[in-house]
Amino acid sequence: MPQESPGGQTRRPASIVIVENLVKRFGNFTALSDISLNVAKGEKIVLCGPSGSGKSTLIRCINHIEKPDEGLVVIDGVELAGRMADINSVRREVGMVFQSFNLFPHLSVVENCMLAPIRVRGLSRSEAHDRAIGLLRKVRIHDQANKYPAQLSGGQQQRVAIARALCMQPKIMLFDEPTSALDPEMVKEVLETMVDLAQEGMTMVCVTHEMGFARQVADRVVFMDRGAIVEESDPDTFFRAPRTERARSFLNQII
Ligand code: ADP
Ligand code: MG
Repeated sequence: MPQESPGGQTRRPASIVIVENLVKRFGNFTALSDISLNVAKGEKIVLCGPSGSGKSTLIRCINHIEKPDEGLVVIDGVELAGRMADINSVRREVGMVFQSFNLFPHLSVVENCMLAPIRVRGLSRSEAHDRAIGLLRKVRIHDQANKYPAQLSGGQQQRVAIARALCMQPKIMLFDEPTSALDPEMVKEVLETMVDLAQEGMTMVCVTHEMGFARQVADRVVFMDRGAIVEESDPDTFFRAPRTERARSFLNQII
């Protein structure tokens, strides 16, 4: 149960993300019904399930890009109850990488990475530049730092998007099908970057159908169908012996 701190904020240090009884509707359609999910510090979760099962909506509710209709989201001890100050402070700690890379087209690679740390974290230009180059090196793309997004391949752009998110020094990284828009030969370089990140201990929630990645890094596979979590287990159990018929038929389709 939550502990009430003297400041009134709910703190549960064991989990970085707590989702409890989350419901999200679009008009009469219930996209998420009664979702509960905890993510421990350092944990890697792979979220999978058929198209339309609510994976993106759940990821978006975690950092309140979508506002849940019911239920609770707590990020690093702060409950997102609709106060903009809380939502903004939490978003700073949550890195997001989407299927479409969403880089700013008019900014160079390094400037893409410098923008938020300067504006939101108050870094000087030179501090932001050093940090950006360091993280671009980590994703092995620092030699492209002065190019513009359109001059890069999809895989390179996605690695820049990852570096850009890391420049904010997030406590957790959320990935929503980061390799789905890529040509097959570029999927590997992006997955390798994500594996590196996982091995460094980053807390990650990844929507992906890359089951090799899931086997390699996931502590837990969470399978969704029709707006609900149907099954969750360690990857070995999930792939070897899925409990539900829905998970079995999903796996038959993608593997
Ligand atoms: P997934 O990511 O698993 O493919 P989504 O979370 O994108 O699924 O969508 C879950 C369901 O919610 C789908 O039926 C989708 O059509 C619906 N949905 C998502 N976003 C909206 C929206 N903004 N308005 C109406 N329906 C939406
Ligand atoms: Mg989606």
